[in-house]
Amino acid sequence: MNPRRQLLLAGLALAAPVRGAMPGMGTVYANGRCLLDGRFVEQDLYVVDGRFSDLPPVKVQQRVDLAGGWVVPPFAEAHNHNVDSTWGADVALPRYLRDGVFYIANPNNLATQVAPLGARLGGPGRPEVLFSHGGITGAGGHPQRLYRQLLERGVPLAPDAAALADAAYFEVPDAPTLAAKWPQIVAQRPDFIKLYLLDSDRFAERLLLPQTEGVRGLDPALVPLVVARAQAAGLRVAAHVETAADLRLACRAGVNWLAHLPGYLGGRDRPEAYRLSADDARLCAARGVVVTTTTGVARMRAPELEAIRAVQRANLDALCAAGATVLIGSDNYLDSSLAEIRHLRTLGVDDATLLDWWSRVTPQFLFPGRRLGALRPGYEASFVVLARNPHDDLPAAVESIRLRVKQGVRVEVQ
Ligand SMILES: [Zn+2]
Repeated sequence: MNPRRQLLLAGLALAAPVRGAMPGMGTVYANGRCLLDGRFVEQDLYVVDGRFSDLPPVKVQQRVDLAGGWVVPPFAEAHNHNVDSTWGADVALPRYLRDGVFYIANPNNLATQVAPLGARLGGPGRPEVLFSHGGITGAGGHPQRLYRQLLERGVPLAPDAAALADAAYFEVPDAPTLAAKWPQIVAQRPDFIKLYLLDSDRFAERLLLPQTEGVRGLDPALVPLVVARAQAAGLRVAAHVETAADLRLACRAGVNWLAHLPGYLGGRDRPEAYRLSADDARLCAARGVVVTTTTGVARMRAPELEAIRAVQRANLDALCAAGATVLIGSDNYLDSSLAEIRHLRTLGVDDATLLDWWSRVTPQFLFPGRRLGALRPGYEASFVVLARNPHDDLPAAVESIRLRVKQGVRVEVQ
């Protein structure tokens, strides 16, 4: 063995000590075509103590023949509210696992509703969900009306509308209110902070219009204050955005993560406000602000769909040309992000790029402290095995998944 390799292995052994099982016991996954740096390479995978190893296990506990299957890291959904309760999880989690989506971010939920989910989430064989809990919005801001409507339709999220305040959302009209409510916000132990920007360049005038009740956002002047408090608490900030102006405000204020692509759902009255300029895209890339797609929800706006798609395509192109980071997210309660992938294909994004965003970029952004999103030695041994080549037809390949493994443990699907 050459000395460099020996040194590398020594380093790995220090970084990932074997616990429980006898040192060197593990599983060989043979005859797979593994995604390595964007290409498929025929190679066996060695898994020891829940991580990939570049040496075969000293004692092979199990040998699994992957029969030429395509092996990729599991996928991530960066924006969905469907894991929001025990009943929501009962429906959504099997769908996620079936589609190979093991990492999910919920950028607005009630902390009390997801507390009972703890034992079902995280660790070997189980999906992971990040929760923001209640987001921060302005007077009469989104998502207040949405949550009231859910209650009226009989969704048992809270005993009454009053119980939604400071739980499903935090209404923060000014800096003193932010200071007063911040301890409550962090006491819920969110994984990240969510705030709302909607037509932020018209914030003052829209505040006076009764018809904008429920579709307003946070006062732009408060965004840097929220970011500063979140940074001090070690939390990243995701912003709901609608327009190019919202993107610029979020980027300049130090927001980390845009929960939508501007123009994702089209414009209400001024289509030009949703188009990103090359400068907007460059600002986003230069500040390292990531953008979540959520483009597929436009399908509910059938008459305007073509116009919306044109904006989506132009904005995605601008962001990609500038080198900005794109996350896969659907914001569709009924989706696992597979339908989002299908919609993005219709916008002309190729399968290799989508696979990279879905299996590497999105999970690595959601879990920056973890070694995941790649089939590399020392990384968490999480992967899915597809019967078809995902570079030929990604959605069809996802429908052909024949094995799912999370941190070395096989994931069972109902
Ligand atoms: Zn959402």
